[in-house]
Amino acid sequence: QVPRPATELDAPFSTSCQEPDVAAERENAVIVMLARNNERQQAKKTIQSIEAQFNKWFNYPIMFLNDDAWNPRFVAELNETAGGKGIFEVIPKEHWTYPDWIDQDAAKNSIKQQGEAGAPHAGQEGYHHMCRFYSGKFYQLDVLKKYKWYWRVEPDVDFTCAITYDPFVQMAKRKKVYGFTIALWEVGKSCPGLFRATADWKESRGVVTSNLWSAMMEASWMPFPFRRFLSWVPHRDSYGDAWSLCHYWSNFEIADMDFFRSKAYQDYFDYLDKKGGFYNERWGDAAVHSLAIAMLADSQQVHHFEDIGYRHDTFYQCPVNAPGGQLPNSPSLAENKPWTPEEAGGIGCRCKCTGKEKLRNYGTYC
Ligand code: GDP
Ligand code: MN
Repeated sequence: QVPRPATELDAPFSTSCQEPDVAAERENAVIVMLARNNERQQAKKTIQSIEAQFNKWFNYPIMFLNDDAWNPRFVAELNETAGGKGIFEVIPKEHWTYPDWIDQDAAKNSIKQQGEAGAPHAGQEGYHHMCRFYSGKFYQLDVLKKYKWYWRVEPDVDFTCAITYDPFVQMAKRKKVYGFTIALWEVGKSCPGLFRATADWKESRGVVTSNLWSAMMEASWMPFPFRRFLSWVPHRDSYGDAWSLCHYWSNFEIADMDFFRSKAYQDYFDYLDKKGGFYNERWGDAAVHSLAIAMLADSQQVHHFEDIGYRHDTFYQCPVNAPGGQLPNSPSLAENKPWTPEEAGGIGCRCKCTGKEKLRNYGTYC
């Protein structure tokens, strides 16, 4: 096994199995899932997984959010799956709708055209409301005011490794503000004007960073060969309209809501909202969060949870394939025994991947 470099900027919080410390103090945190009533089965799958791999020990509340009234069957079944820790809330209408300055007929027309042009989900009005909601309004919800930290999950997610420590506590201890598992590319045609708007906001507000591009490039999780390759790609054309499209995939996030509630972030969100791009284009919350983190947080405040086994859709992060490790050919896979640190490539705990992940898939697709 190749030893991890001692100078690593963003080392995993834990590199071995341990008995979860159930007596330790918790953070002020909540697990959150936005869902639709018709996603009951997929929602259950996610909650079963996070309960089995983490929350049966740590017992954080799980808040379910919906723009529609909850179906009693969803509430009953998911609360049971969540071990009685479910909280079911309906999003106030004003957080899930067009802002006043949007011409709704024009927006609906544009959404129809975007759907025909084929960007994923771009033809669904609800999806645009969802992206706007998660980009900014989410952090203003009254029902979340009393919490500082959130862990976002979605229907149809698998956690494939036991998480035997408290990620909220570790994030707080190390002054992290944003944690992710997978980074991949945004679909360019969903957001042709987003980077221009972002660059304009940054300039108009005098936000100083080592520019966005270098912030993304210097992120410690970026595999070096990609960094070298990307450094040859122009990152802002003469019109200011392009970025690498690399973003943190926001269906998994563990983050500090105070960052997103800050004046600077909310000002950025309001600026984007005024531009109308949540409707005239399909600006996604993942891209918006990522660009904001690149501008407003230090790279040391971002954490890649490379030890969390994760699947959503067809994308995986499989810690047994982590840097320095190799896919073990071990009988413990069949027996479902904990990996030894050597087997797990130095990180992860009781991990069982499906074998579909391919070698060297450790979350950072871009
Ligand atoms: P994708 O991950 O970008 O492909 O989009 P998803 O379909 O997974 O949607 C992202 C999240 O938003 C999931 O948690 C969905 O349940 C939720 N979502 C999307 N549209 C709606 C909607 O119209 N109403 C509600 N309540 N949730 C939605
Ligand atoms: Mn999804």
